[in-house]
Amino acid sequence: MNRRSGCGILRVMPMRVRWHTSEVDRVGRFRAMFDLSVLHRPTSPEEAVRLFRETEGTGLYVGGGTVVVPAASSKLDFLVDLSAAGLSGISSESGHLVLGATVTISSLARSLEAGGIASGILHTASLSVANHTVRNLATVAGNVAAWPYPTDLPVAFLALDATLAVMSDAGEREIPIEDYFLRRGDVFSKGDLITRVSIPVPKGEVGGGFEKVGRKRLDIAIANAAATVRMDGGRIADARLAVGAMGPAPRRLPECEALLKDKVPTEKLLADVGRLVETTVEPRTDHRAGADYRRKAVGAAARRALTRATGLLGAQG
Ligand SMILES: Cc1cc2nc3c(=O)[nH]c(=O)nc-3n(C[C@H](O)[C@H](O)[C@H](O)COP(=O)(O)OP(=O)(O)OC[C@H]3O[C@@H](n4cnc5c(N)ncnc54)[C@H](O)[C@@H]3O)c2cc1C
Repeated sequence: MNRRSGCGILRVMPMRVRWHTSEVDRVGRFRAMFDLSVLHRPTSPEEAVRLFRETEGTGLYVGGGTVVVPAASSKLDFLVDLSAAGLSGISSESGHLVLGATVTISSLARSLEAGGIASGILHTASLSVANHTVRNLATVAGNVAAWPYPTDLPVAFLALDATLAVMSDAGEREIPIEDYFLRRGDVFSKGDLITRVSIPVPKGEVGGGFEKVGRKRLDIAIANAAATVRMDGGRIADARLAVGAMGPAPRRLPECEALLKDKVPTEKLLADVGRLVETTVEPRTDHRAGADYRRKAVGAAARRALTRATGLLGAQG
């Protein structure tokens, strides 16, 4: 049995459903994995937020489903599928690059607008995510909200000073991405929907770099790092350096950024910063890597990201 209401609700009778609509391919994946009672497919972000609030039980938004579907929690009562919510555009607005929540990571990697920013840092970070099969489904907002998974785009977004647009019943508000990761419990609530990621297009001579250390290509990061550097007269006027996969959330390293300020970039300077990164982070141990290995890996990743950002390509080790 399969009913579809005017507001885009697909009601799913647990595990006894026969699918006849054009959504079969996509929802079939969800149906096969979950014991859902309701699958929503809203056509606007406002509708998505409303349906999330109005539906009883435990639910999640779904972008590409590459985290939600493999997790296949039997505790879920409903899903709100964002694929038709009109959030899949990339645009330039008032000096910002704006990425809709459901822009796929493949689209981001292909975007010329995104690729033109800070030495193509978003292009590099996007292509470091899994393989093309995953990237074709995975969304930008899903990569941010998959936290606490150590995903790749958030470190690049931190280095680029990105802001999240977040919608709730009260309307839309902006959250600096740093606040989202530093104090998520204070600024983000259940049912909040990320609608966009907005990145100020850097002005002046700004380079960027992203590096990831993983066991193999499809693996999630053991360590990742991203940097942007604004040069002025051969010196580093400003630097932003972020690392991930150390603890529950990616973070900027202001102590390390301060060491770079007003300096002429040299291999020695970047090696010194790499060592400071190693002593600043508090890495965890898990099944992917021990804390000591992570510490070394993130120092190297940060140094390489800075090497790219400053243009000192020959300095990589
Ligand atoms: C084999 C494999 C390899 C992987 N390798 C990598 C890798 O190398 N690097 C990497 O970064 N990731 C990797 N991942 C993880 C994952 O694919 C990505 O993080 C992906 O970007 C998640 O996006 P999604 O749209 O599929 O998220 P979903 O699975 O749809 O959602 C993930 C979480 O985000 C929430 N969410 C989604 N959209 C929104 C929104 N708009 N607002 C609020 N909450 C939202 C969901 O409720 C859920 O909690 C891998 C996954 C797999 C299966």
